[in-house]
Amino acid sequence: MTVAAVKAPPMTIAYDLKASVRTIPDYPKPGILFRDITTLLGDARSFRCAIDELVQPWAGSKIDKVAGIEARGFIIGGAIAHQVSSGFVPIRKKGKLPHTTVSMSYALEYGSDIIEMHVDAIKPGERVILVDDLIATGGTAEGAIKLLRQTGAEIVAACFIIDLPELGGAAKIRDMGVPVRALMEFEGH
Ligand code: AMP
Repeated sequence: MTVAAVKAPPMTIAYDLKASVRTIPDYPKPGILFRDITTLLGDARSFRCAIDELVQPWAGSKIDKVAGIEARGFIIGGAIAHQVSSGFVPIRKKGKLPHTTVSMSYALEYGSDIIEMHVDAIKPGERVILVDDLIATGGTAEGAIKLLRQTGAEIVAACFIIDLPELGGAAKIRDMGVPVRALMEFEGH
């Protein structure tokens, strides 16, 4: 499968999933258009459609783990893990996980932060799908991919409901050799 083949053309989704995402201007700070997926999650048909569409390229293939990025990636990732009959692995902000962790620094708009995962969460060679609600600059996903690769994971794909392509995150992740699947795009940031 080519990288391009798993980038979902938004037009192929018959149901208008994009209409179920709410946009909040100037949140959390002026100039940001916050893409709020709680309205999508709260609508049964939209939630099911999003999960079905995200996993569609891997229906029937073996996925060992779905790794979800805190916090909205937990909701989507948990549902995907159930759908593909895999385990679920939380990737959390520093200091939240109780057992021994591995960590990775990742770039924010201003500065950096640290994400962590349990050291024994993934065995070398396991096939993993990374999940978050939205990809913007790709800094968070890049950190998560480096963290997963550190444990020997084979990253099958990175899945997002929303891509903000002008910020270049999806292109950055594809350049790391990871196919990106996103269900819709929004202009701007
Ligand atoms: P980035 O690391 O820049 O790709 O940012 C991705 C993370 O920030 C995801 O966990 C998103 O939930 C959050 N995020 C960034 N921009 C937005 C936005 N415009 N609306 C909602 N969430 C956002």
